[in-house]
Amino acid sequence: MNIILLGPPGAGKGTQAQRLEHTHGLVQISTGDMLRARKKAGDALGNELAAIMASGKLVPDALIIDMLEERISQPDATKGFILDGFPRTVPQAEALDAMLAHSSLRLDCVIELKVDEEALVERIAGRYSCAKCGAGYHDVFHKPKVAGTCDKCGSTEFKRRDDDNALAVRTRLKVYRDETAPILPYYRAEGLLKVVDGMASIDEVTVEIEAALKAA
Ligand code: ADP
Ligand code: AMP
Repeated sequence: MNIILLGPPGAGKGTQAQRLEHTHGLVQISTGDMLRARKKAGDALGNELAAIMASGKLVPDALIIDMLEERISQPDATKGFILDGFPRTVPQAEALDAMLAHSSLRLDCVIELKVDEEALVERIAGRYSCAKCGAGYHDVFHKPKVAGTCDKCGSTEFKRRDDDNALAVRTRLKVYRDETAPILPYYRAEGLLKVVDGMASIDEVTVEIEAALKAA
């Protein structure tokens, strides 16, 4: 099964992708995570990526398309994948179709998580993750079972994203409206799009996604 999770920053894509990875044995491919790892190199490209990401704008299509193509050709991706954060522009969606056709793969379902903008700001402001395994949490909506200890790996180190600040969030929401939302009609026309109410609780959203996947 190959799935795309679409939705604005903070919609719950990463949270739900981590669950699908676990329950369906799929691989989560987050272009944001890949770029955050790449920028750590601290070389010229890393510094360029860091500046773009801190501003909330998108990195150039050509770069991200090459990165994604390389990733989905890795052996583990044959188990099926969940794309989280890709595609984000119509040219990226078109490039993905071409890549999949080239490798005789197909998309099974594109899930749009629909969330009100006011809720997104609150979600992003409270977001943090385990510094060791990357498990996602929230100050209010998703706390670890034991305060200060990661449920998944037991680590006590956590981190917050540099771009989860008010200014970058405003840009990221505008970029979503202007550049990413135009992808939705593209997938609707292909008959792949399922809309899920991302305002529900994390568990309820998972149930809705499972129902959408069954119907796909
Ligand atoms: P995205 O990957 O779409 O940017 P995340 O999955 O990182 O979003 O979610 C953003 C924040 O909101 C996280 O801190 C997460 O714990 C929290 N969150 C995710 N889904 C929900 C939900 N349905 N209700 C409340 N909080 C949520
Ligand atoms: P995310 O973790 O998905 O919220 O992405 C964080 C940042 O990485 C974005 O604000 C962009 O700067 C960059 N990014 C991630 N995925 C893409 C993509 N598919 N195309 C362009 N830029 C991306």
